[in-house]
Amino acid sequence: MSFSQTDLSYDVVIVGAGAAGIGCGVVLKELGLERFTILERHQVGASFSRWPEEMHLITPSFPSHGFGLLDLNAVTLKTSPAVAFRREHISGKQYALYLQTVADHFELPIRTGVDVQTVEPLPQGGFKLQTADRVIRTRFVIWAAGEYQYPRLHPFLGAEHCIHNAQIRSWAKLEGDEFIIIGGYESGIDAAANLVAMGKKVGVLDRDGAWANPDTDPSVALSPYTLQRLEFIYRTGRLDIVGDADIEEVKSIPGGYAVYSEYHKWTTAYPPILCTGFDTSLKQIAPLFDWSKGYAALTEDDESTLTPGLFVSGPSVRHEDLIFCFIYKFRQRFAVIAHAIAQRLDLDPTPLDAYRQAGLFLDDLSCCSNDCIC
Ligand SMILES: Cc1cc2nc3c(=O)[nH]c(=O)nc-3n(C[C@H](O)[C@H](O)[C@H](O)COP(=O)(O)OP(=O)(O)OC[C@H]3O[C@@H](n4cnc5c(N)ncnc54)[C@H](O)[C@@H]3O)c2cc1C
Repeated sequence: MSFSQTDLSYDVVIVGAGAAGIGCGVVLKELGLERFTILERHQVGASFSRWPEEMHLITPSFPSHGFGLLDLNAVTLKTSPAVAFRREHISGKQYALYLQTVADHFELPIRTGVDVQTVEPLPQGGFKLQTADRVIRTRFVIWAAGEYQYPRLHPFLGAEHCIHNAQIRSWAKLEGDEFIIIGGYESGIDAAANLVAMGKKVGVLDRDGAWANPDTDPSVALSPYTLQRLEFIYRTGRLDIVGDADIEEVKSIPGGYAVYSEYHKWTTAYPPILCTGFDTSLKQIAPLFDWSKGYAALTEDDESTLTPGLFVSGPSVRHEDLIFCFIYKFRQRFAVIAHAIAQRLDLDPTPLDAYRQAGLFLDDLSCCSNDCIC
């Protein structure tokens, strides 16, 4: 498609106005960048506002920013969801409101209702983005489209009989008194905790029993908050957990559903709940990355190793064993991306000093590990 009169042109386009997109947007704004925009298919914080009503952030919020330790869930300096909501574990809707408040305060240039369908690198440099009704040109792209809106809906045969946790708006509205949950990581235990709290009986089937994983990194093992909740609901007697159930198929049977692993079968009257995770939105633009290691390879500036000018922010950022899938992790890379862009656009990077002082400019990954001395 050729460029028309109505084409828009920018220095930077951020795709997605979630935690990553809003956080990156604030840094670009503080750098004084004028020609940038954030394109969002729904509204600011759309993934969070779509969480089941009863779901809360597992990472705690605490008003520690006054003493130089930013609230774990803040996406920018001098803000704290704990202060805004006076809660330690805030809900998805509250977090979406926090992001909208940050966006309003910094007057971020956001266009909502814009779904980015394709990203095409141009031979002369820069990119052409296709949305439903127009083409947008930009020198740099920051892909911050997250994972939540890309649920893994077909992990095994018969998965169409199940309901994925991303499709549930409220556990309270789910019909039934006993459920099978497939997947026992954060989403699965959250679903179980909410259903058991409502008096339901729940069976959690997991391939390798995430609850028993002794790893200290919450990107691969359950968080302390979740372990604590698990212990509590287990004591009710309404929870059954099976840690070696690699589910291969779900079948519809008279009066309900049968769930099969290689050697076992479980039955339930209600559609099993899939808590089998999410794909990365990078799959939408997969050819622009090298996937040879099983994840999108990025440079030390979080730029695609295959496509210069295409940056990634959010939970899909990975460097070897370092997985940046929590806000408190990936927010430390916003300034790294901004710094790379500032250098190429010849912008003064001084505003980024404040980020470095606050521990929000993590450009030396050799310091990261989850080791604990005692
Ligand atoms: C169930 C669950 C619970 C989690 N709990 C926590 C937690 O407690 N603490 C924590 O730190 N992390 C948690 N995470 C990790 C989570 O990935 C991040 O916290 C956060 O949601 C990621 O922010 P994001 O901005 O990258 O993605 P999102 O919040 O998903 O934002 C992406 C945005 O991009 C938009 N979008 C997507 N595709 C397009 C497109 N093609 N065009 C335009 N717009 C698009 C979406 O509408 C959305 O608004 C959780 C993740 C899941 C799945």
